[in-house]
Amino acid sequence: MNVYSTEVAETMSLPPPVENQAYCDVSALEAGHIEIPLAWVIDTAKDDEKAFLPALSFLLRHTTNHDTFVFDLGIRKDWETLPPAYVARIKKMGFRVSVPQDAAASLLRGGMPATDIAHVCLSHLHFDHTGDPALFPRATFLAGAGGRAFLAPGYPTDADSLFAGDLLPADRTRWLEPVGWPPLGPFAHALDFYGDGSLYVVDAGAGHFPGHVNVLARTSGDGGGCSWRGTARMTGGCSRGRRGSRGIVCWGVRIGMGRRRRSISGG
Ligand SMILES: [Zn+2]
Repeated sequence: MNVYSTEVAETMSLPPPVENQAYCDVSALEAGHIEIPLAWVIDTAKDDEKAFLPALSFLLRHTTNHDTFVFDLGIRKDWETLPPAYVARIKKMGFRVSVPQDAAASLLRGGMPATDIAHVCLSHLHFDHTGDPALFPRATFLAGAGGRAFLAPGYPTDADSLFAGDLLPADRTRWLEPVGWPPLGPFAHALDFYGDGSLYVVDAGAGHFPGHVNVLARTSGDGGGCSWRGTARMTGGCSRGRRGSRGIVCWGVRIGMGRRRRSISGG
């Protein structure tokens, strides 16, 4: 018996499923693209290679309480209305931004208006993750408390700010403070969002931006007891390099999948 690997497996596992375990159906949503030098995200790419990488959003539908939860909003269609300092930075970095269909449009193509969304969780406040929150008028927004200061006061009070002070609705935003969240597997702090082990908001620690959070969804009622099979991990980081990786490389969100993935974004 390999004691070490057994201990690691137990440490890394989700809590085992309970009887009639609730989980989430996860759907990827198209939410814009950014063309960048491929060498920025794949360390074996040639210097002159470029690629349009998707800024994905995800719809998570709870199987028993039927809550509708969107993780990240990708890029807003009118991204050139962002605070001037941010638009200038995007152009200076040479990004080519294309948003033929934003997160709200992708939802609608799948038959779900954005007004039906109850929760929107933003991994962090970069423009390729925040989309257009105004298109989700009934949602409660969730974001890491570490990012709050970037909107206070924000643009236009601070003319040089990259972030609009009114990006998120004050009366419908819940700033998440991970201090006090219990550990989960290898993660130091995780919030059991529904209290039933179906969806966790995970503190990304130092992460990619202050207040960065990820989500970990159970995607099966019976497959998550002994490993990370049966889960979807949405990390929401502007992509970082992986040696030779040419699998799933998204500018907006990197996702590791277990099973049960469906798309409602249409062809
Ligand atoms: Zn980012």
